[in-house]
Amino acid sequence: MLSVEEALSRILAEIRPLESVSLPLDQALGSVLAQDIVAHEDMPPFDNSAMDGFALLSQDSKPQAGQAPRLRVIGGVAAGYVAQTRVEAGTAMRIMTGAPVPAGADTVIQVELTNSDGPQSEWVEILQEVPPGNNIRPAGEDMRSGQTILTRGQEIGAWEIGILATLGYAQVQVVRRPRVAILGTGDEVVDIDAELQPGQIRNSNSYLLEAAVRQAGGIPQRLGVARDTAKSLREKFSQAVHADLILTSGGVSVGDFDLVKDIMHEQGAINFWRINMKPGKPVAFGKISGIPLLGLPGNPVSSAVTFELFGRPVVRKLQGHTRLQRQQIEVVVEQDIQERAMRRHYVRAHVTQRAGKFIARPTGNQGSNIMTSLLQANALLVIPEGGATFKAGEHIQAIMLNWPED
Ligand code: AMP
Ligand code: MG
Repeated sequence: MLSVEEALSRILAEIRPLESVSLPLDQALGSVLAQDIVAHEDMPPFDNSAMDGFALLSQDSKPQAGQAPRLRVIGGVAAGYVAQTRVEAGTAMRIMTGAPVPAGADTVIQVELTNSDGPQSEWVEILQEVPPGNNIRPAGEDMRSGQTILTRGQEIGAWEIGILATLGYAQVQVVRRPRVAILGTGDEVVDIDAELQPGQIRNSNSYLLEAAVRQAGGIPQRLGVARDTAKSLREKFSQAVHADLILTSGGVSVGDFDLVKDIMHEQGAINFWRINMKPGKPVAFGKISGIPLLGLPGNPVSSAVTFELFGRPVVRKLQGHTRLQRQQIEVVVEQDIQERAMRRHYVRAHVTQRAGKFIARPTGNQGSNIMTSLLQANALLVIPEGGATFKAGEHIQAIMLNWPED
């Protein structure tokens, strides 16, 4: 049996990031940059005021014989405008936050440190001496023309979008998001709006996987459910020709699996593994017509957990991420957890922070068919191979499902 790590590294060895595309900035959130982002101008582009106040010459702010200097106000400049007159010695100009500092002035004093005769005042008294550069945000203070600000491979979050916008990148080169075809299998599996006939169940896996693919940054495409026949599988796979990844669920129990295997042999190559874990029955990995295929188990919890451990890293690698796996931290178990199974067990659990400690509580019945064990679960506790007992208060490793990748 393969370890989880071995299976994942074999899968990832076959996956290459996709090519890049140009996207409008407002569609780039969550994508990975395929270009370095260079500033083509200084930011801010011009020296500007950090305060509402007066622009003046620093030397004019020195008290004279203990008296606050009084300067002549020669006008005003608001954000978005450029002053047409110079500030000369003995004069000052009213200035608003973000407005370009007028020629001649070398400093700005905030309005609170001045005295004047209201907004139209023709004079201003300077109540404090201010050094040159005071309250001036110099051109290029944040970013310099020619400077590389973001690099290829970085993920675009909301704050990076802000940087790209300020630098005028209306379009940005990013790694294309993978299209992921999702196929259910099984004669017993019907669509979710069907009236259940005896022996039937609804296709929950495809919908769960569709959502999980979307959360992982992929573009899902549900192909419905293939019946347990070679003909039906062949027909469904033929609809996946434009996909970058095919996910199937079910049909990987040893008996059933022969069907998928036959078709993969016919149209590509197949690896079929037993992975030393639970939940999670055998997982299939291979290619069909050159497209990677990940065959997940049919049991809903197994399908969800194996997607998390194998599918999500694949989707992330395809879209250019280098950090593929969730963060794993040490948590404290709230109650005894005992496990006799020889396989590594991923226990669905809820982790909360209390008094500076992360405390984990399993979410109930851990059967691989018990979908409600996924509810409230924000972590997978990792019980090592061979079984183990963790007493209340002991530490255990937890994969944090809502944390960003590390
Ligand atoms: P299989 O691997 O095909 O033997 O499926 C294992 C279990 O998962 C069986 O109980 C199936 O009925 C169930 N199952 C398979 N596919 C799905 C699906 N798409 N949605 C929900 N349950 C499924
Ligand atoms: Mg089946």
